[in-house]
Amino acid sequence: MKAVKSYVAYSADKPLEPYQLDRREPEANDVEIKILYCGVCHSDIHTVRNEWGGTMYPVVPGHEIVGKVTRVGNEVSRFKIGDTVGVGCFVDSCGHCKNCKEDNEQYCENGHSQTYNSYLQDRKTITYGGYSTHIVVTEKFVLNVSDKLPLEKVAPLLCAGITTYSPLKHWNVKAGDKLGVVGLGGLGHMAVKIGASMGAEVTVLSRSKSKEKDAQQLGAHHFEITTDKSTMERLANSFDFIIDTVSAQHDYNDYLALLNTNGVMIILGVPPTPSDVQAFQLIGGRRSLVGSLVGGIKETQEMLDYCAEHNITSDVEMINIDQINEAFERTLAGDVHYRFVIDMASLK
Ligand code: NAP
Ligand code: ZN
Repeated sequence: MKAVKSYVAYSADKPLEPYQLDRREPEANDVEIKILYCGVCHSDIHTVRNEWGGTMYPVVPGHEIVGKVTRVGNEVSRFKIGDTVGVGCFVDSCGHCKNCKEDNEQYCENGHSQTYNSYLQDRKTITYGGYSTHIVVTEKFVLNVSDKLPLEKVAPLLCAGITTYSPLKHWNVKAGDKLGVVGLGGLGHMAVKIGASMGAEVTVLSRSKSKEKDAQQLGAHHFEITTDKSTMERLANSFDFIIDTVSAQHDYNDYLALLNTNGVMIILGVPPTPSDVQAFQLIGGRRSLVGSLVGGIKETQEMLDYCAEHNITSDVEMINIDQINEAFERTLAGDVHYRFVIDMASLK
């Protein structure tokens, strides 16, 4: 056991605070990583505030991790001390079910081990995430990160990047397709960048007029305000794909109505409360309502390599760890441009 510094939530209604965490000594297949940067995902907030239920306190969030290898177990072959690496939303899976064998560990039939607020495959050991100075992860779930890009801007790719890349690839979004992105936050801004890089004609669908200029700089071709009824009427039947990244309750029917015949609406955001869907919105245009969860390890590596090749990173606002509670509040207020990233050197 090695004691490391971290930030923790003890309950849903208390601010995060410093915490000493025990990490395991690296076993044969383990990589120990000194964390340089960790992104702040809205899932961290949902979990800390127990909005989805099932939060196991104390919880140390964080699943957008970039760092340097500090120690390796004696059977580790892909990494050595000093390598730059990443860890995303999960740190293990059963390895033998159909989905794991097909590199879709995120859909492990026996339950994958998430990076925090989850159990390792022994089903006993609770996981603690990246708001900490070090993490120990089995080699297979560690990603190679290119030193070519600024690392603090790479960290959010480990969740926001792969969560948007994976469905864009799966549904084969391509040049000429009309893509709507609902919500311009962490996931949304990556959907804009990656979607545009794949050749799609991207429209940001936002509540926040103040984000219009940014949307264009991120690569969006159009920007529309969703709170305006006449705009929503004008946009009816105009998208081949919609990526919905909204974190709070909203009406899916309003956005389904914007899809073309055969259009696909991809749910990425996870509002804590369920939404009603009108059958007419689906049958009227043979539309599909689908969802997608992050992406497998192989695809995450593919995404990191793709982003390095296409010079795609996240737009980040750096914070020290003692600003984390303020960052949560600003994220909840939609005031994030477009991902908070913690400089872990500030955790002393
Ligand atoms: P975020 O940075 O807070 O962005 C969410 C955006 O949604 C906001 O910036 C805002 O954009 C819009 N929004 C927020 N509240 C809204 C409301 N009441 N009505 C309409 N729009 C609203 O969050 P994030 O980190 O991108 O995460 C987004 C969601 O995806 C969260 O629920 C998170 O848990 C989930 N998630 C899912 C996966 C997955 O694998 N599927 C992975 C990671 C995260 P505008 O100001 O532009 O309207
Ligand atoms: Zn996330």
